[in-house]
Amino acid sequence: SAPTPKKLTSIEEYKAFLDKYDTFLLDCDGVLWHSNTVIDGVLETVKFLRENGKRLVFVTNNSTLSRPNYVKKFERLGIQATEKDIFSSAFATAVYLRNILNFPKDKRVYVIGESGIVDELKEVGIETTGSSDDNGVTMTHADFGTIEDDPTIGAVVSGFDINLNYSKLAKAFKYLHNKDDVPFILTNDDATFPSISGHYPGTGALAQPLVFALGRQPLVMGKPNKPMLDCFFSNYHTDPARTCMVGDRLDTDIDFGAQGNIDTLMVLTGVSTEKEALDPEQPIKPTYIIQSFGEFAKLA
Ligand code: PLP
Ligand code: CA
Repeated sequence: SAPTPKKLTSIEEYKAFLDKYDTFLLDCDGVLWHSNTVIDGVLETVKFLRENGKRLVFVTNNSTLSRPNYVKKFERLGIQATEKDIFSSAFATAVYLRNILNFPKDKRVYVIGESGIVDELKEVGIETTGSSDDNGVTMTHADFGTIEDDPTIGAVVSGFDINLNYSKLAKAFKYLHNKDDVPFILTNDDATFPSISGHYPGTGALAQPLVFALGRQPLVMGKPNKPMLDCFFSNYHTDPARTCMVGDRLDTDIDFGAQGNIDTLMVLTGVSTEKEALDPEQPIKPTYIIQSFGEFAKLA
C-alpha cells in the first residue's frame, strides 16, 4: 500500500517541498477559491511561486466556463492567468473529440451542459445543438411522438447543466439508444460539488438518469480519469518527476495525480479531510498534506 502522507507544517518543510518541483497542477475550487471567494494567502502564494520560476497550470473538472471566461473569472479574483494556463474538463472534451476521436466534419454534438462546452467545441470546429436551445422546454405526454432521431448527431456530451430537463434527457436518450457507435461522453462524474451553502448534486449525479436508462457506461473525461490525463500530457510538456498535483479531493485530484504517476499535495480547505487521507482503509493517498495552499505565502 501507499506510504503514509507527510504533513508539511514548518517553513523549512515548505521550502524543501517547493524545491522538488518546477510545475504545479492546481485544482481550482477548494484550493484557490470557494465559489467566488479567494482562499486566504492564495494570491500571495501564486505570485511568490511565479517569481520563483514555477509553472502553474489550473486543472478543473468544472465544465461550465470556457477558457476565455475562466481568464475573466481569474482576473476578477485577482489571479493572473492566460488561456494556456487553464485546463478544464470542457476543453479536454473538445481536444479529445477533435484529436483522438477525429470527430466527423459533417456531424454535430448534442450537449447537455452550459456555454463552456459549447464554446470549447466551437473553438475546435465542432458544431453543437441542445444546451441553451433546449432550456425551459416543457413537455407533455403527447410530445413523445414528436421527438425524432437525428442522424447528424455524432456524439452526446453531458456536463453540469443548471437547466437540465426531461426534454434534454429524452433527446439525448434517443440519440444514443441502441447506438453503441455514437460516443456518450461525460465531462466529469463528480457526485457533488461544493457551494457557499454546502454540497449539491454534481455532474455525475445529473448523468445518472441517462446512464441508467441506456444501461451503458459513458466515457468520463475529467479527473481522475485517463482521458483527461492523456489530454494533459499531450498538451503540456512537463517532466512528471518534477510535477506535483495540488487538490482538495482524494477521489478526483489526488487519484488523478496517482494515476499519472506524479506526486500530490492535498490541501485541507476543500472536500476531503485529513482523517480520510490518513484512514488505513482508504487506498488513495496524497504524497503530502498541507493546511492550505495559502500557507506558502509565509515564504514571501
Ligand atoms: N463541477 C461544477 C459544476 C462545479 O461548480 C465545481 C466546483 O465549483 C466542480 C465541478 C469542481 O471543480 P474543481 O475540479 O475545480 O474542484
Ligand atoms: Ca476541487
